[in-house]
Amino acid sequence: MARRFIIANWKMNPTNKEEASALAAEVESQLPESQADREVIVCPPFIYLQSVRSVLNKSKLGSQDISCFEGGAYTGEVSGRQLYNMGVGYCIIGHSERRQFIHETSEEIRAKLRTCLDNKMIPVLCVGGGLKASDDEATIRAMVRKQFNEGLDNSPIDVLLVTYEPTWAIGSGRTPDPDHVSRIAAFLREQQDELHVKEMYILYGGSVNSHNASSFRDIDGFLVGGASLDGHEFAEIVRAFK
Ligand code: PEP
Repeated sequence: MARRFIIANWKMNPTNKEEASALAAEVESQLPESQADREVIVCPPFIYLQSVRSVLNKSKLGSQDISCFEGGAYTGEVSGRQLYNMGVGYCIIGHSERRQFIHETSEEIRAKLRTCLDNKMIPVLCVGGGLKASDDEATIRAMVRKQFNEGLDNSPIDVLLVTYEPTWAIGSGRTPDPDHVSRIAAFLREQQDELHVKEMYILYGGSVNSHNASSFRDIDGFLVGGASLDGHEFAEIVRAFK
């Protein structure tokens, strides 16, 4: 059966542990009993991983980042081993907000991806950072291909999730034409063999909500930011995704 992934990216929300647990509980209570082929993944801030983990049952735990270092004297970093031991199964890597505001480099993204794999977690690699709404499709293809290639180091990968997220669509309430998203998804899939990825899934992210979710086709899921902060709305997206 084909796998589908709906990922909640809570970013720097909420502001305390009680609200984080309550939101996770709301998501759980709103999800359908049987999600069939859909895997729901919740990515809270690091500080809430433990509280959220104790609430999740139908959904899985993900992280919004991972250190590019294995371990040691790196103040403030959280290692792949620590995340894995916390029960994290998926790591978002290379989100455009980290590329843009934290100036994360391609070298760091590649190292994070490798650390994630070395620690038996599945990477969710984001591409599309830096794009503008006015970019033509050739520019977009060149950019996502570059970011995609830069993230991988040519060693074999069992499972990889790639999220196409045009920067301008994130948090803006605006979304690209669904046909464009389908074409970029097909383009990314064409690179799979060359990049030695066994199982690859292409997700879309950028202002997804319960009203527009069903308009996207030929993708394997969503990365959802703002709309994932409302448990009911997020569960509606899970239901709406065909
Ligand atoms: C995101 O954070 O990756 C995202 C897609 O955010 P939003 O859904 O708010 O656009």
